[in-house]
Amino acid sequence: MDTVCNATSDEPLGLYRINAGSCNGCDVELAATAAIARFGVERLGCRYTESPEEAAIVLITGPLTVRVREKILSLYDEVPEPKVTVAVGICPVSGGVFRDSYAVAGPVDRYLTVDVNVPGCPPRPQAIVAGIAEAATIWKGQQGGEPLQRAETAASLSGEGATPAGLRGKMRYNASACVGCRMCEHVCAGGAILFNEEEAGLRFTLWHNSCAFCGLCRHYCRTGALSATEEWQLAHRQEDKYRLVEEGVVPRVPCTGCGVPLLPVPPELLRVAFRETNREISRLAALCPECRQKESIGGIRR
Ligand code: SF4
Ligand code: SF4
Repeated sequence: MDTVCNATSDEPLGLYRINAGSCNGCDVELAATAAIARFGVERLGCRYTESPEEAAIVLITGPLTVRVREKILSLYDEVPEPKVTVAVGICPVSGGVFRDSYAVAGPVDRYLTVDVNVPGCPPRPQAIVAGIAEAATIWKGQQGGEPLQRAETAASLSGEGATPAGLRGKMRYNASACVGCRMCEHVCAGGAILFNEEEAGLRFTLWHNSCAFCGLCRHYCRTGALSATEEWQLAHRQEDKYRLVEEGVVPRVPCTGCGVPLLPVPPELLRVAFRETNREISRLAALCPECRQKESIGGIRR
């Protein structure tokens, strides 16, 4: 990795940080990449600079608030071309948890060219370093240098092999355990989850570029259809921005009574509701609400 940033020049690449209305969470993690040796960007042949004129790579945090927009865009213009831009954290990438606020003008790629995105709220320093390495690779490529190896994982950059216990990465969805209650969509602060009704069933989409890794969806999902992985290093190029999704479809099945299509009741929900299931519970679970009502009334009359 030592050769990535120095492939065509002995001069370290200047890193210039712009805060576009961030809560400072991402800025604290950026500070770690500057101040803590094991995250040191110097190993990549880069260095932080206070001067926009000396920069080759711009690191933007924050959702780009309306209040600071013009100032930020004019500051950005002070960084000479060619430059490579990294959006650090979900705020500049998608607006994150602030995406629907009247005070937010972003995401930043509405106004300037973003090359690399580093999701997270905030991203770990290792993920930011991976994003910087990717940006340096792009910059060197633009200078006509030798083809460069792609950035390695953040964990290898920091020398850290394991993810600390309890640290969440991107969420995973299991459609076969989903009952389609849409509670996860309701509680998601980042608006990262969307359900769409389709002929085949209910389509679930989770956009990782708006996910804060907060875990609320997993917490409220009674059937365990959502779980957290340890994949927190998600730095990627801009062309992959809208490909970073988790998807699944809950297929409709015919009611065993009348044939009307319905979302199936997964065994996970029956276990939550009844602890122990039996053949009668399973039979009723395969009926639509109307048929179940008729069966219940018939059962009472009998
Ligand atoms: S994933 Fe869980 S919370 Fe979301 S709709 Fe499915 S069952 Fe409900
Ligand atoms: S962890 Fe779940 S609830 Fe939290 S932002 Fe991500 S998708 Fe939304």
